[in-house]
Amino acid sequence: MIRRQRYRLRTPSTGREVLVEAEPGKIYRDRDTGEPLEVVGKVLPLAPSPSKLPWAVENLRFCPHCDQLAQKDLNDCPNCGRRMGPLSEPAR
Ligand SMILES: [Zn+2]
Repeated sequence: MIRRQRYRLRTPSTGREVLVEAEPGKIYRDRDTGEPLEVVGKVLPLAPSPSKLPWAVENLRFCPHCDQLAQKDLNDCPNCGRRMGPLSEPAR
């Protein structure tokens, strides 16, 4: 199975951004407005990460050290390797 590169795509008129496993050269359109999405950037890391969570917006957070996206269930940032600390979960 080929893992596709994930991209951040933005709807120009609304500024809404989505993470999509996009194929190069293919045009993706906004579900509501139908306008072509512009590529904002690739989503790192490219290598498989130990997280089980998919790279969906609701599963991601920004690393406080390097400001890159990482899955919420990871303790260590896959980009810079530093500990991101606990999520804002209810204390047990
Ligand atoms: Zn980091």
